[in-house]
Amino acid sequence: MGSVVCSLDAELGWGFHDLEPLPTERVEAGRRGWSTMLELCEEFDIPATWAVVGHLMLEGCDGVHEDHPAPDGWFERERTDWWDRPDLRFGRDLVDDLLQSSVDHEFASHSFSHVLFGAPSTDRELAVAELECSLEIADQWGQHVDSFIYPRNDVGHRDVLAEFGLNAYRGTSPTYDGVRGLFDSTVRDQTMLVEPTVDEYGLVNVPASMFLFGFEGPARTVAESIWQDPMVLQAKRGIDEAVRNDGLFHMWLHPNNLTHPRDDHRMRAILEYLSRRRAETDLTVETMGDVARRVRVPRGVDGGTVAADGGIMGDN
Ligand SMILES: [Zn+2]
Ligand SMILES: [Zn+2]
Repeated sequence: MGSVVCSLDAELGWGFHDLEPLPTERVEAGRRGWSTMLELCEEFDIPATWAVVGHLMLEGCDGVHEDHPAPDGWFERERTDWWDRPDLRFGRDLVDDLLQSSVDHEFASHSFSHVLFGAPSTDRELAVAELECSLEIADQWGQHVDSFIYPRNDVGHRDVLAEFGLNAYRGTSPTYDGVRGLFDSTVRDQTMLVEPTVDEYGLVNVPASMFLFGFEGPARTVAESIWQDPMVLQAKRGIDEAVRNDGLFHMWLHPNNLTHPRDDHRMRAILEYLSRRRAETDLTVETMGDVARRVRVPRGVDGGTVAADGGIMGDN
């Protein structure tokens, strides 16, 4: 049976706080995009994995975070340019909307302050602190966390994820973002399906198939004036491939990618198509947590001989 996963990196200002210059349009689109995506998911009844930056769930902060082992200056933007922008630093209202949605979304983690886990400067202590803070806040909100999405897909410190009891993370896509990926999947007919795998720590890697906003700027405008939105066509191809080959297609985005009405149209077209194909076929829509559960359970903890019900499938 084929399935589709949609995951979102929900971060407001945290996705950009270490960048100079700031991509202002993206920064300012975070709140609107979050609400629009929640509405679209409700309209088409699409459960998604929402990986939320933990800091957004705080009631307030001093902008210093003295106990946090981040490098000096990591929280500086909070104390300076964004001191009077709590709307970029906190998002309790939006997290509430997510948790109260009529759709059964998965609440996941996108770290505490968007630290890059694969960076050489991120030591184990910092990775532990990011996990600890995120899970503590989630717990205060009554949320259990199964899945983790690495900031900027920078995979690292997987052992720490396992230590904190997580089950899944989103691995990098085998397909290039943007024009190159479009070329590979259309002209070269490269598959957009991905295979979830269990790593040496017992974590399930649910790789991304496609970033839905990898093809932007002037090239997008030209392409859209000639054809239909190429990203919609590529996503439809991925969904159809999941149906045809009983595989997994995993698309992802940030709510802040919805900077213009045409971005809303893109997401509406994709989710509408997904909902239609689900109704017409045996295609299912899963979260990353769902995928991790079905991949891990049949294999059991010893790597494949013990069945979920305790029965023996192999020789011993
Ligand atoms: Zn803070
Ligand atoms: Zn992010």
